[in-house]
Amino acid sequence: MIAGDVSAVTMKAMEFLSVGSPLQLVERPMPLPEAQEILLEVLACGVCRTDLHIIDGDIKDVLPIVPGHEVIGRVIAKGDQVNRFAIGDRVGVPWLGSSCGRCDYCCHRHENLCDEPVFVGFSVDGGYASHCIADADYCFAIPSTIDDVHAAPLLCAGLIGYRAFSMCGDAMRIGFYGFGASAHIIAQIATGLGCKIAAFTRPGDNAAQCFAREVGCVWAGGSDMLPPFELDAAIIFAPAGELVPQALAAVRKGGTVVCAGIHMSDIPSFPYELLWGERQIRSVANLTRADGESFFTAIAAIPVQTHIEVFPLHQANKALERLRAGSITGAAVLVP
Ligand SMILES: [Zn+2]
Ligand SMILES: [Zn+2]
Repeated sequence: MIAGDVSAVTMKAMEFLSVGSPLQLVERPMPLPEAQEILLEVLACGVCRTDLHIIDGDIKDVLPIVPGHEVIGRVIAKGDQVNRFAIGDRVGVPWLGSSCGRCDYCCHRHENLCDEPVFVGFSVDGGYASHCIADADYCFAIPSTIDDVHAAPLLCAGLIGYRAFSMCGDAMRIGFYGFGASAHIIAQIATGLGCKIAAFTRPGDNAAQCFAREVGCVWAGGSDMLPPFELDAAIIFAPAGELVPQALAAVRKGGTVVCAGIHMSDIPSFPYELLWGERQIRSVANLTRADGESFFTAIAAIPVQTHIEVFPLHQANKALERLRAGSITGAAVLVP
């Protein structure tokens, strides 16, 4: 192991123990990196809707777990086989913590679909902590132009949102259903590329609709409305299955409806007529490292301003409840 300043012998973390109970602040021994790993001092960690699905038990893996998969950290120690980063470098840790490298998906660079994936803050401890361990091969260098707290939401809301956006192909008129962390980042990139974005929020959520217009959407309204123009594609960011037939009804023939979330409530049955005309519905699962590279290239050309609300680490439960209530404009970010 190559170590920088690892003077602390313990670390702090917000730990998730069981469904229905709040995260607990715990102190643990400082972990040491294995050969391929880096030890990070966490500088900021975004709060993602997936974290709510984890603590609600909608998706299940090991417990106890430290959530957090939008991590910005500084490398303070690294394993012998890590060549990519130096001590002191600032890196980002995304949702896909590592993949097997052997399965058919991994062999074809579809590691987002790996049969034995490792997810940060879900199958291994994440960034709701003062320190965390990450597999160096799955981390990203973070452009120096973006500060820690504004960079954190890029690691999932930005990156997986960008993958969903790329599934829209050459669509120029796109509907965004649900306007939170992910949508507000992708709206800026999409409008920068000349797309017209229609934003759909909970009916009557005027604040979210104003926010959508502020970040470049040409129209914003309730999800029960039809947009003033036909959509080439739609991305559903909200975890609400009833939005699928609504989006299909707004999309033109040949258009695609992309479901961007890891969890969604059941999709109600709908008349085949809504799908007819070669419309498609597809999901987006996780991210590949290539997605990350193209995302960071895109935001170098089209600067993105993330809107954030910062909470101290020990207030993670408060940040999660605010997110659940829909009262966060943009993204919530924890700072140790
Ligand atoms: Zn996420
Ligand atoms: Zn694999």
